[in-house]
Amino acid sequence: MDHSLPDGETLYAALLSKDQDFEGIFVAGIKTTGIFCRPTCTARKPKRENVEFFGSARDALLHGFRPCKVCMPLEHKGSAPEWLKSLLAEINENPLARLKDSDLRARGVEPSRARYWFKKHHEMTFQAYLRALRIGQAFGRIRHGEAVTGTAFESGYESLSGFADQFKKTAGFSPRRSRERQLIRTARILTPLGPLLAGAVDDGICLLEFVDRRMLETQLRRLGKLLDAGCVPGFSRHFDQLHAQLLEYFSGKRRAFDVPLVLPGTPFQQKVWAGLRAIPYGSTRSYKEQAEAIGFPDAVRAVAKANGDNRIAIIVPCHRVIGAGGDLVGYGGGLWRKRFLLALESGQKSLLHT
Ligand SMILES: [Zn+2]
Repeated sequence: MDHSLPDGETLYAALLSKDQDFEGIFVAGIKTTGIFCRPTCTARKPKRENVEFFGSARDALLHGFRPCKVCMPLEHKGSAPEWLKSLLAEINENPLARLKDSDLRARGVEPSRARYWFKKHHEMTFQAYLRALRIGQAFGRIRHGEAVTGTAFESGYESLSGFADQFKKTAGFSPRRSRERQLIRTARILTPLGPLLAGAVDDGICLLEFVDRRMLETQLRRLGKLLDAGCVPGFSRHFDQLHAQLLEYFSGKRRAFDVPLVLPGTPFQQKVWAGLRAIPYGSTRSYKEQAEAIGFPDAVRAVAKANGDNRIAIIVPCHRVIGAGGDLVGYGGGLWRKRFLLALESGQKSLLHT
């Protein structure tokens, strides 16, 4: 049992009533059949003692369950469940809105569900998420020339120091430095391989990593230094494009991405990453072949290292580099993901559901 989930009785009741509100919160593994389902699956519901609950499809997969053919729990339905979409659109439109529990209820969103969802997808409460959005918006205004004081009050803060404290806590630098610094907006994008953390600056996507990747925090810190930027959850126009292209990619309909990328790094790293992007969809290269292809035949290890430093999973396809003997070898996101991506790209659909 995943302890970040509501209790089993609540989840079982949600499963029986096919409660939409729990889409994206849990999947149910059915011990008698070995398959796992979305809460809203229309297949016959199992007895309580035969159900195991998981916080993600990935966890269910790792416990040996196979995805249900009726509700297809690996087919993600957007980064936010239906019940949350209009609320997200509203706060995107107006991050200054103060929304209390009663306001959520008035919009048909049960506050506890919103709490679980934000905790799970952003590792923060709904209110903290709103605060981060407000700071992100304030950053944009100061950056584009508005005065700090005016921005503080227009952002709903009653004192300048209160605003400055919150700003610093959220963005990592003081509001006055907004003109010389950048802000990386982050958001989670759900994929059949689990959630990806995307990061964007004004010029494009600068991060795309699986959220459970061990190196993620280090990558974020390094990226913040390279771009001289703080990091806040929020919206970016690049996310919509990225999300749409990832959806197409995972359904086998897209082979190349053209969302703008921001890839700060050494000239050597830039060469290696450009080399990765030159490996065609559906094919693989060994580290040695890749080193030769970019003109550094003797630097296989350095090339492998720069591959590992790639911050844009899938789009800069480091998963297409394999061992000399055809072994998959290392992948920051885990070998099971590398196997999935290569199977997807080679059209071996059958491999995706075993
Ligand atoms: Zn099902």
